[in-house]
Amino acid sequence: PCPLCPIGCKHVAMLRGFFADEHEVEVVEAGYDYEPVYALGSNLGIDDPAGVLKLCLLCDSYGLDAMMTGTMLAWATEAYERNLVGLEETLVEPRWGDADGYVEMVKHIVDMPNEFYVSMAQGRAYRGLGEDFLMTIGGVGLAGYHTGLAFVVGTAIGARHSHVSNAGYSLDQRHLGEPLDPVKTVETLVEEETWRCILESCGVCLFARRVYDINLVAEALAKLGLRRSIEELKETGRRIYALKYRFKLREGFSFKNLKIPARLFETPSANGRIEPDDVKKALEVAEHRIKEMVEKYAPAM
Ligand code: SF4
Repeated sequence: PCPLCPIGCKHVAMLRGFFADEHEVEVVEAGYDYEPVYALGSNLGIDDPAGVLKLCLLCDSYGLDAMMTGTMLAWATEAYERNLVGLEETLVEPRWGDADGYVEMVKHIVDMPNEFYVSMAQGRAYRGLGEDFLMTIGGVGLAGYHTGLAFVVGTAIGARHSHVSNAGYSLDQRHLGEPLDPVKTVETLVEEETWRCILESCGVCLFARRVYDINLVAEALAKLGLRRSIEELKETGRRIYALKYRFKLREGFSFKNLKIPARLFETPSANGRIEPDDVKKALEVAEHRIKEMVEKYAPAM
């Protein structure tokens, strides 16, 4: 868990393994939560908990993003099954459910012994093959759910460049069964994330976001001598958001380069099928809206 948190949402498993023949057993702690278990478990067809934990541990020890690693392994397995790549590229036969094989592949992602693994390490589809089933947006592996339009758009436009930036899934969840308007979706996502900028700056865990609403945050800050009106707090959130985006844009992020994998449109979400035109519209609106905010709140020096 994060230091001093009384909730402790994170889980730690004791992974028992043999480090030598006979009874030479060692027990190591493996941290896990929902996303790594999805990305390195069900996403790869692995139903053996020890196999999933082994992969989680390996990613942690290498400092690899578990979600992105699982995404790349899944892509490689499908690309192999479709004969887009062969053993000369993968070096290990990728097979759904084969945790030991995936362990070897993760090691290759780190060692990068050939061009294939260089692209795996960079999170790219090897030679542009099978991009329609490379489940990334903006170079980031997707979270383990497919809730609807807001999830896709939220992942694409998050200032923090992550699905947790604005919780598009939560917006989808609140509107299950109702079609979402792309323009309103962008407005809500941007508003949510500007508010999250304040919560994160105050050190409030996003899981407690329904507890710390804007009034309570203003009250808590006032107790510390930081008196801010609700509007001032919102303005600060917008400034932080714009500064994050200024950084993102400076580092090469471009709305035009965003590619949404075709599979997200082919596979019905919890809110039904997502229309490519709705995503396109949302991204156009987002680009305009966000660039306007950047110019206003974080103008170039
Ligand atoms: S993520 Fe939030 S709830 Fe979980 S341990 Fe950290 S502070 Fe606590």
